[in-house]
Amino acid sequence: MYFIKAEASFDAAHFLHDYEGKCSNIHGHRWRIVATVQNAFLQRNGQQKGMIMDFSELKKALKIIAEHYDHSLIYEKNTFKSDTLECLKRDGFRMVELPFRPTAENFARHFYMVLKEKGYRVSNMTVYETPENCAMYEEN
Ligand SMILES: [Zn+2]
Repeated sequence: MYFIKAEASFDAAHFLHDYEGKCSNIHGHRWRIVATVQNAFLQRNGQQKGMIMDFSELKKALKIIAEHYDHSLIYEKNTFKSDTLECLKRDGFRMVELPFRPTAENFARHFYMVLKEKGYRVSNMTVYETPENCAMYEEN
């Protein structure tokens, strides 16, 4: 089996609703997202001969994800009081609403699915919340 890995990163704020501890407050991370793509075979012809795929193509897909979240406040649906949310939006803050709690684990699964739906043969998605802590998602 062959594997390639590429990564992108973004800076964004989040908080964990119903969490007792520091993470319940709004705080920022440099999120590092690392995708591993696999294939048993390499391309046989053309520009990508001898490759699973072009690194730049995988990097581009990760960059699209990263740009969606960069310099935003990420929050789980229904965790802000409606008037708080309204005020933040009215003041022009860039907000990204998610249907799930914004943990590294949930992001890992979410990004895995985004790439899979685009046709990438993802074997692993790793999301670093800090340089020392990461979560991974794999199927099988
Ligand atoms: Zn955090």
